[in-house]
Amino acid sequence: MHDLVLEGVGKSYGSVLAVTDVDLHIPAGKLVCFLGPSGCGKTTLLRLIAGLEQPSRGRLLLDGADISGLPPDRRGFGMVFQSLALFDHLTVGDNIAYALRIRGEGKDSQRRRAEELLEMVRLPGVADRHVSQLSGGQRQRVAIARALAVDPKLFLLDEPLSALDAKLREAMQIELRLLQQRLAVTTILVTHDQREAMTMADLIVVMGDHRVQQVGAPSQIYREPANTFVADFIGTSNLLPVTVEAGAVQFGDRRITVAAIPDGLRRGQPATLLVRPEELHVLPTPDAAGEALPNRLPATVTFVRDVGGTVEVHVDCQGHALIAESLRKDAAPVAPGDAVTVDLPREACRVLAA
Ligand code: ATP
Repeated sequence: MHDLVLEGVGKSYGSVLAVTDVDLHIPAGKLVCFLGPSGCGKTTLLRLIAGLEQPSRGRLLLDGADISGLPPDRRGFGMVFQSLALFDHLTVGDNIAYALRIRGEGKDSQRRRAEELLEMVRLPGVADRHVSQLSGGQRQRVAIARALAVDPKLFLLDEPLSALDAKLREAMQIELRLLQQRLAVTTILVTHDQREAMTMADLIVVMGDHRVQQVGAPSQIYREPANTFVADFIGTSNLLPVTVEAGAVQFGDRRITVAAIPDGLRRGQPATLLVRPEELHVLPTPDAAGEALPNRLPATVTFVRDVGGTVEVHVDCQGHALIAESLRKDAAPVAPGDAVTVDLPREACRVLAA
């Protein structure tokens, strides 16, 4: 098992900044996802790790040794791109054995290894078929098998599942994750799909604005987002502009008590209040006039989305859109136009720097 450290890594193309100030530890045997919106620098960072690009700043250490100047073919990494880049004129077996042949392995050993890998990606018995005869999902598996053929020190994947339909994609996410855990190969996966990252990752590196915004386990990123960008990007967020008070925040004319005010935020400062949809409750009665209970806000239902097991109630609260999500059996019986009260439990209220 191998680990990778990035120290102050950055890359610019002329005056265009692609990614900057990246300090990261990719732990041995773990699966790390680079997650972020389009253009934030995920692919550039992966290409720097692969050696396909040279960093403008900083260095990369594999097991403590500086590999910053090492060409891609001397790093011993396996890669799968979105395009897969399979050789269509070759058989499945020859695709997988390609790197082994270059390494000078004998024909029998190549064949054995290809069959072993096909077994591993649950595609046995297709070694003699042409790649062009396979379905999208099967081609995906061949690309994964090919990247794993050389026992890579790092397994690098750039949006490898994005061409698959939703159902197959979800199934492949789980399969790929189980395979990665079985092999305990240090893996980096680039994706802009937060659900994919949450499904597969030990650690998520949330990227935005060409830099790392937060690194953490999926549940930590969801529960304790470091800033408004992460809160907004991960999960469905209810974000309200507030002003910081002592142990509370002020939203319009209402006071909302919160569990904690983060260090560095002082009274009177603007901030953002985050409440996740599953923690926000809609009470099917209008807010009693003038009662103004803390953590209770008057709102109007704008939309009800019934998605089977769960129900989403969308409300307008003083001009701000909020979403409450609950199990069907707990859902408030409300309809668009209803005047309701939203309840923001104190422990569910997180305050972030605006
Ligand atoms: P996507 O999800 O759309 O692939 P990304 O997060 O992977 O996006 P990158 O492809 O790494 O983003 O690009 C980051 C920034 O660097 C973008 O603004 C992009 O235009 C710029 N960039 C990337 N490669 C080059 C290049 N070869 N020359 C100039 N600019 C580049």
